[in-house]
Amino acid sequence: MKTLIQNLQGYFSGFLSLAYPNICNGCTNTLRGAEEIICRKCTANLPRTGFEWSENNPANQSFWGRVPVNFAASVFYYRKGELLPKLIHQLKYKRRKDIGVFLGKITGKLLTDAPFFHKPDVIIPVPLHPRKLRSRGYNQCDILSQGISEVVKAPVLPDSLIRQVYNVSQTRKTRFERWENVEGIFKIVNPQIFENKHVLLVDDVITTGSTLEACCFPLNQITGTKVSIITVGYSAR
Ligand SMILES: [Zn+2]
Repeated sequence: MKTLIQNLQGYFSGFLSLAYPNICNGCTNTLRGAEEIICRKCTANLPRTGFEWSENNPANQSFWGRVPVNFAASVFYYRKGELLPKLIHQLKYKRRKDIGVFLGKITGKLLTDAPFFHKPDVIIPVPLHPRKLRSRGYNQCDILSQGISEVVKAPVLPDSLIRQVYNVSQTRKTRFERWENVEGIFKIVNPQIFENKHVLLVDDVITTGSTLEACCFPLNQITGTKVSIITVGYSAR
């Protein structure tokens, strides 16, 4: 449970970052030189997974036997109470798109250095349900993808993958029932655009991987399409 002090700290650092944009969103020290969003020390302290350096990484393994995936990785561990969840919360609920672009850029940089990552032809953000998109006003995965795109130099096509069913009851279903309806959740609008292309799917955090799995189905049906997956955070089940 959060203590009163932690709540106050959260309140004040949120307030301070609005009032003083040159303050680190992690430690509240003053940002210097080329630093943006968080200082060098907080950036270095983000918990790296190193998944992008191994084909046998847990994110990639989580798709084995479920859906064909070229390569999957997450770059940071997503652990409750740490800085990454705080930054993603600001991106999703506090309209801090600058934080999303920043996280996307770090992710892109880590990927381009890694041996198992091959440059995609196109980037597709995991879509939000239209209802959620209307209330939030933007999809956080679009913003992360913009940051990745700047570094990886591949275009983002945000409206090509669409969600068809609102699966609010997913969690109450058995694994078999989930598998049965996972295939029809997403649809590709113009499949011919993706023929023989290497597509990079982008999500903020991977937990069970079922949303990403569902996104892969329509893409894998297109001739010659290869799908890779990248998420900023990895949350252990
Ligand atoms: Zn800092």
